[in-house]
Amino acid sequence: MSYASADSASFDNQDGFSAPQVLAQLRQSFASDRTRTLPWRRAQLSALESLLKHHTDELITALYQDLGKSKTEAWTSEIGFLLTDIKHTLRHLKKWMRPHKVPTPLIAQPGSSAVFYEPLGCVLVIGAWNYPLQLTLAPCIAAIAAGNCVLLKPSELAPATSSLIKKLIPRYLDNTAIAVIEGGKAETTDLLAQSWDHIFYTGGEAVGKIVMQAASQHLTPVTLELGGKSPCLVERSADVEVAARRIVWGKWMNAGQTCVAPDYIIVEECVKDALLKALKKEIRAQYTRQPLQSPDYGKIINRHHFDRLCGYLENQQLYFGGETDPQEHKIGPTIVLDPDADSPIMQEEIFGPLLPVLTTTQISESLDFIRQRAKPLALYLFTNDSKLEQRVIRKVSAGSVCVNDIMMFMTNANLPFGGVGTSGMGQYHGHAGFAQLSHKKSVMIRKFWLDVAVRYAPFSSFKLAILKKLL
Ligand code: NAD
Repeated sequence: MSYASADSASFDNQDGFSAPQVLAQLRQSFASDRTRTLPWRRAQLSALESLLKHHTDELITALYQDLGKSKTEAWTSEIGFLLTDIKHTLRHLKKWMRPHKVPTPLIAQPGSSAVFYEPLGCVLVIGAWNYPLQLTLAPCIAAIAAGNCVLLKPSELAPATSSLIKKLIPRYLDNTAIAVIEGGKAETTDLLAQSWDHIFYTGGEAVGKIVMQAASQHLTPVTLELGGKSPCLVERSADVEVAARRIVWGKWMNAGQTCVAPDYIIVEECVKDALLKALKKEIRAQYTRQPLQSPDYGKIINRHHFDRLCGYLENQQLYFGGETDPQEHKIGPTIVLDPDADSPIMQEEIFGPLLPVLTTTQISESLDFIRQRAKPLALYLFTNDSKLEQRVIRKVSAGSVCVNDIMMFMTNANLPFGGVGTSGMGQYHGHAGFAQLSHKKSVMIRKFWLDVAVRYAPFSSFKLAILKKLL
C-alpha cells in the first residue's frame, strides 16, 4: 500500500531536513482525517506487524551490532514484545475507540453524556538506545492506535537499529503520516523547537528536563519515560534459589542496560550469604564461567558508558566479577558488597552490569531508605510474607511493583507502564498508551424539549431551593 501522493513529499530522503517542513507535512496528513479512522489505524498496525515479521533477521543483526544482543534476547525483549503489543491493540482497538457513556445528572435531563477519545494530532517520539527498537516503536503503536500522525526519532547511539527503522518504516507505513528522522542532539533540538501536540520521550533525566522545557514554550503535553535506581528487596522467607535465578535474568539481560533492571539489592542479613552464593551459581549457570565470551551476554553501548561504569568500581569491595574487555565494551556480571550510600554507585543510576548488595537486619527497616530517595521506576520484593508484601505495595511509591519476580509486569499489556516523580510521568502499553495519546473529550448532548426555567434569572429563593435539589 502506498500513501505518498504527487503533491506530498515523502520523508524517505532526509537531505535538507527541515523540522518545520516535516511537521507541516504531518499536519497536512492529519487534516485529511484519514488517521482518525479505524481502518487506517488497523492497516498501519498490521503493516508494522508485517515489517517486524518480514525483517526479523535484519533487526536481530542490527540489535547485535548495537548492543551485542543474543537472538533470543532481541526477539523476546524487542521484536516479540512489539508483536504482542500490536496483537493486543488490534484485538481491542474498536472497543477502545467507542465513546464511553457516563451518567447525566437530573439538572441536565433530558440529555446524554459520553467521553470521546480524540487523537491529539502530531506526536513526536524520541527513542532511547538500550532497547532501540522497542522503545521507539511501542510509543508509535500507541500513537497510531490513538489516530495520530507520528514523527519517530530513534537514538543515534544505536546507529544500526536507527538506520534500519529509517529504511523500513516508509516502506510499510503511510509515510506522509508516520515519518522517521535520524539524528542526535542537533536534530532533536530542531524538532523540539516545533509546536507538537504531544512529545513522548524515553531516556535520562537531564534530557527529560530539556524536553519538558522546550515543550513548555508551546504548552505541549509530555510523556517522560525516565529511569532511576530501582531497588530489589530480599526478605528471609523468600525462596533464595528462585529469587537469585530471576534476579540474574533481569539484572544481566542487555548487560544491565534496562531501565527497570534492579539497580541494587537490600537483603536481610540472615539470608545474605545464601543469596550471594546463589547469585554466583546462577551467573555461572546462565552466562558460563567466562561471561565475556558468552554469546548470550551483551555489551555496553559505547566507550563513554563503559568508562562511566568502570569508574563506579573504584574503591569498592567486589564479591564477584569485575572482568572487563575495553575493546569490545564488555563488563562481566559484577556484585559489589555494601557500598557507602554516598558513593557514586549508590548516588547515580547504574544502568549497567554492576549490582550492589546492601545488608539490613529487617527489610521493613529499609523502607524509609527507599522512601527518602527519588521514587523508583520499579520496585522488587522477594518474600513469602503476605503482610510485608502488602505493606511494601501500599507504603512505597514506585512506577511499578513486582513481587517475587523481576520485570515480568512488562509482559502484561493490561498493566500501564511509566514512572512517578523523577522516574517519569505518563504511562503507556495497551490501553494506557491509547489513552495517553488521546484527548478525552467530554461531550454532552441535550434536547430542546423540557427547558426547566429554574436556572434562569430572575432568581428567587424558591428557584435556589429547587436548584439545590437538582444539582
Ligand atoms: P539520553 O537521555 O542521553 O538520550 C535520549 C534521547 O535524547 C536521544 O534520542 C538523544 O538524541 C536525545 N538527546 C540527547 N541529548 C540531547 C540534548 N542535549 N537535547 C535534545 N535531545 C537530546 O539517553 P540516556 O540518558 O543515555 O538513556 C538512559 C536513561 O534512559 C536511563 O536513565 C534509563 O533509565 C532511561 N530509560 C528509561 C526507559 C523507560 O521506559 N522509562 C527506557 C529506557 C531508558
